[in-house]
Amino acid sequence: MSDVELAPMDVAGRVPRLVELLPTAGPDEQPVDGLLVTSLTNIRYLTGFTGSAALLVVHADGLLLVTDGRYRDQSAEQLAAAGVDARIEISNQQQKEVVHDGVTGFGIATLGLEAEHVSWAQQQSYATEWFEAAELVPTRGVIEDLREVKDAGEIARIAAAAGLADQALANIRTRLLERPTEEEFGLELDTEMRRLGATAPSFETIVASGPHGALPHARPTDRVIEAGDLVVLDFGALVDGYCSDMSRTIMVGEPSAQQQRMLHVVREAQQAGVDAVKPGLGAAELDKVCRDVIDGYGWADAFLHSTGHGVGLDIHERPRVGPKGDATLAAGYVVTVEPGVYLPDHGGVRIEDTLVVTDDGCRPLTLAPKTTAA
Ligand code: ZN
Ligand code: ZN
Repeated sequence: MSDVELAPMDVAGRVPRLVELLPTAGPDEQPVDGLLVTSLTNIRYLTGFTGSAALLVVHADGLLLVTDGRYRDQSAEQLAAAGVDARIEISNQQQKEVVHDGVTGFGIATLGLEAEHVSWAQQQSYATEWFEAAELVPTRGVIEDLREVKDAGEIARIAAAAGLADQALANIRTRLLERPTEEEFGLELDTEMRRLGATAPSFETIVASGPHGALPHARPTDRVIEAGDLVVLDFGALVDGYCSDMSRTIMVGEPSAQQQRMLHVVREAQQAGVDAVKPGLGAAELDKVCRDVIDGYGWADAFLHSTGHGVGLDIHERPRVGPKGDATLAAGYVVTVEPGVYLPDHGGVRIEDTLVVTDDGCRPLTLAPKTTAA
């Protein structure tokens, strides 16, 4: 995407929003004085830093980023570019002391940890060796909740990633008629996305043909794609850290009556889901919209997974769009709608779009045609 100017992201606005949440970030909405951020994805979100090692202490009075010598220049440059004001400490051996002194320096008595990102061993070490004076408390999903609402720059990156994936499929789609193996077609799709400017695929590309299509997350094999196969493609691109996610199901040759019915049902369920997406809709309600259509055709048991998920810096992030999803959609959320039907004797069909929730509905970011012929 080197020749495309993407709208800027409001990285600097994120820490102030996080600081506002600290007074209720602990268990039972107890206050924490500061937060130790250990998830590198969350550190990237808050600061723009993309290195592979860092710790971030967040406090109302300031930010402390601790990383190692490999990232001395990069950390300074990336935080400056993002407009994030932080003290950066470079330490190879003394991270424990540096972080401890930072926490003490901010006067933090109650330090929140990211419970979903800290191992048991790490928590033990923090409690007994790093922060003996501070009370450590678990926090859950505080930054992940902030990440649910994307700003214009984030949406631009996801849209760019989706556009690359659309174009890649358009460029090589007819190759499915030339009897490639699943692995060969997957590799060509990945290469084409890279050639068009993607950093990488946003996850391991799924090419599931014929009977393999009945396994929702089949990995590509050396199976040759033949006439009579439904081919489930599930793939996405990564652009500036942001993911896209799309499934299309392509029929090679003439569909049987049952395959035609599967394609019709999933198409109808997916469209019903897309049409329903708007602010205020519950994630579980959205799941039910798609599930009810499939249920109506008697295939409730053939829809083996949730309807969708949030997409952003992670390929799967909040909100969860499934029967137990407790989130409520809001403008700026980016979610997938991806119902499927999987029948061992006939293969699988899944159709998935990545959508951004707008003020009065949604806008699909994945625009590849849903026509089924190769
Ligand atoms: Zn997908
Ligand atoms: Zn997905």
